[in-house]
Amino acid sequence: MDYTLSNPALNAIMQKVIAKNPSEPEFYQAVMEFLTSIEPALASHPELIEEKILERIVEPERQIMFRVAWVDDKGEIQVNRGFRVQFNSAIGPYKGGIRLHPSVNLGILKFLGFEQIFKNSLTGLPMGGGKGGSDFDPKGKSDNEVMSFCQSFMRELYRHIGADRDVPAGDIGTGAREVGYMFGQYKKITNEFTGVLTGKGLSFGGSLARTEATGYGLCYFVDCLLKKLGDSFEGKTVVISGAGNVAIYATEKAQQLGAKVVALCDSTGYIYDADGIKLDVVKEIKEVKRQRISEYVKAVPTAKYEDGRKGIWTIPCDIALPCATQNEIDIDDAKALVANGVKIVGEGANMPTTIEATNYFMSNGVLFCPGKAANAGGVATSGLEMSQNSERLSWTFEEVDAKLKQIMTNIFNNCDKTAKDLGMENNFVAGANIAGLLKVADAMRAQGCI
Ligand code: NDP
Repeated sequence: MDYTLSNPALNAIMQKVIAKNPSEPEFYQAVMEFLTSIEPALASHPELIEEKILERIVEPERQIMFRVAWVDDKGEIQVNRGFRVQFNSAIGPYKGGIRLHPSVNLGILKFLGFEQIFKNSLTGLPMGGGKGGSDFDPKGKSDNEVMSFCQSFMRELYRHIGADRDVPAGDIGTGAREVGYMFGQYKKITNEFTGVLTGKGLSFGGSLARTEATGYGLCYFVDCLLKKLGDSFEGKTVVISGAGNVAIYATEKAQQLGAKVVALCDSTGYIYDADGIKLDVVKEIKEVKRQRISEYVKAVPTAKYEDGRKGIWTIPCDIALPCATQNEIDIDDAKALVANGVKIVGEGANMPTTIEATNYFMSNGVLFCPGKAANAGGVATSGLEMSQNSERLSWTFEEVDAKLKQIMTNIFNNCDKTAKDLGMENNFVAGANIAGLLKVADAMRAQGCI
């Protein structure tokens, strides 16, 4: 990958990032995509370079790395590494999920924390950017082992977080079960019941509609785009990757809006159901039994299962919603999707599309909705969970869902207008990055050189 930018000031920042953060390709990719897209804003905002806003914004405020030792069911000690990257607190307490996956390393969490700054800014809520996690793999572990890990993880993390300091949430591998164990340990150590984590269970301060929020929010964003085109989800064929939290609820909302979702996947393979995915079957397999997606064809014999996840992008569709993980759509996948007539790509996952693939979509007339705008519904609803915790109140599902829809509409309009004002209509990458950046930059300037 070539990380050279034509603008000398931006290029200098990029080269410094590479020099100071060795072997962190995902972080370089996120910064490169960001710097490339914000260039049109430099002429009207010279402070971004002159006051080193950009140079400061690519440097995390704080990075914490720690040992997580825990005991497995055989009585053996296991050792993982825990992280929390507190990237930017200019507009509010750090906020971002905890990823538990064997691939987790500092560079991946830096890319995620960096994107989170602009995503959180776009929600309009007072939340800074952060991200954390561990190379622990919850897959195949017993509840007892997951609890042992989560408690050990929190025994260090608790000193760095707090309802007004840093509020972690779920992400890949961290669902309600893991958040529950972490919250219990935080409360035990600090003797405080506060809204220190979001994605909590409903019986102890969680918000209705948080589980659905990222997937629903993605569809609300895409629906705004379809409405702008005078169109709707009705009758559209949709391919969604993943079979986790985001994918399941994106499927649910797309179906409610009249689309036919024909494919889902996990990291081992994908299912194709020409009649439309039966979501109750998927929920039973994934949410209740925690099994592989291949089980689907046992319940629905007319559907097909294929090993390997890449083939999912060869299925013809009008709308593709990648909702699994980073870099899951490369240039070959993008070419296959375009050749098969895809019109819209909406990122439910964080950075699921490589830079090359993104450029290919945009130069071939595909409307591309970047994750930091399109998947912001999850963190926005986490922000609503924080508000409810502070108020000691719980809102109804309908209230939270209506607020989520309004926030996603605002984000869409903000990105759309920002791009239009810069003469780049329908470039939602530039719209999202510039709109997200300018608010954070304004707060950083006001707070001086810190
Ligand atoms: P989950 O852990 O619930 O689900 C992830 C899904 O993606 C699983 O089905 C997993 O399969 C699959 N997957 C993981 N890696 C790959 C791969 N290499 N190829 C194909 N499938 C893969 O995570 P979430 O649904 O919460 O998160 C998905 C994405 O959305 C992530 O990028 C996350 O950062 C992003 N996101 C999540 C938010 C949330 O609220 N949860 C908010 C905003 C963004 P398997 O089980 O085989 O690993």
